[in-house]
Amino acid sequence: MGTSEKIPKLRLNSGHGMPLVGMGTAEFPPVPEKMKSAYLDAIAVGYRHFDTASLYKSEEPLGEAIQEAIKLGLIGSRHELFVTSKLWCNENHPEMVLPSIKNSLRNLKTEYLDLFLIHMPMSVKPGPHSFPIKRDDVVPLNLKGVWEAMEDCQNQGLTKAIGVSNFTTKKLEQLLALAKIPPAVNQVKMNPTWQQQKLKEYCARKGIGITAYSPLGGQSNLSPNPVFTSEVLKKIADAKGKTVAQISLRWLLEQGVIIVVKSFNKERLQQNLDIFDWELTDEERQKISTIPQKKAGTVEFLLSKEGSLNSVDISDIEITE
Ligand code: NAP
Repeated sequence: MGTSEKIPKLRLNSGHGMPLVGMGTAEFPPVPEKMKSAYLDAIAVGYRHFDTASLYKSEEPLGEAIQEAIKLGLIGSRHELFVTSKLWCNENHPEMVLPSIKNSLRNLKTEYLDLFLIHMPMSVKPGPHSFPIKRDDVVPLNLKGVWEAMEDCQNQGLTKAIGVSNFTTKKLEQLLALAKIPPAVNQVKMNPTWQQQKLKEYCARKGIGITAYSPLGGQSNLSPNPVFTSEVLKKIADAKGKTVAQISLRWLLEQGVIIVVKSFNKERLQQNLDIFDWELTDEERQKISTIPQKKAGTVEFLLSKEGSLNSVDISDIEITE
């Protein structure tokens, strides 16, 4: 895709258009100079949607990259971009939402977000966060209070839309029962090896957009990446003269979801956008539907081994179903 061609958008229930492919900005450990340079490369090859979060420490380098892109004339202004950020669990408390978005805006050197998400359906004691999350620090989430504060952020013009991430259908049901503004998006792990059919159908019925994270299986080196090691995807890629990454991304696009994909390599950034002018055949789609499913990490993966959940039932903070 050349820089003059635009990435198509999905219309959210908030009325705003969200580019169907965005750049994932997370890399651990974060290296600000490397990040800034990758974000600039992304703008240069045509990305106009960026997925950041206070957790990733990518807001500041992204803010700098945006300023520099304007100076270099790669974009006319920040308004040409769609920027998502997220509220981490240690700020998942009603009175901390407004200060948190203001801090994200300062980091990003912008006056508004396009989308602000609750990062996890979980709240931990305020203060410095640790990873894994200490079990003893998990406290009940005041979903009603936090969502009202999220709605406030939208009503004050600090963000154009609000949403959630890692919410199960059960959690979305609770949220929809109390929301004045329904979530525009639920950002969850999704790729051909974790297809999320139940959640996808539920969100479609309720008018909630899905953003797929880890569309290439994610960055963990702990186990073989299920996407890149899939024989089905490899065969389809070879037959079509595409890469496995492109097959995975094209499949997601055809599911009607938005994708946030991370690469800090200019050639792969470009490759990941070259998915709009071709399609999978019915036979290929059928083969992909038979790929064995590898369930995305449960909340256990995020929690410390020691300690205990004192005031919360694990089923209430589950992030995958
Ligand atoms: P991903 O997009 O699935 O990417 C995984 C790895 O694939 C990257 O490290 C990248 O390495 C490599 N890659 C990218 N394009 C490639 C290609 N064409 N061929 C071969 N390898 C390629 O992983 P992710 O970072 O987990 O997910 C994307 C974004 O989703 C994150 O950055 C973040 O913004 C968001 N996210 C959100 C949550 C949440 O809880 N809401 C959780 C996880 C992620 P190189 O950089 O070396 O290319």
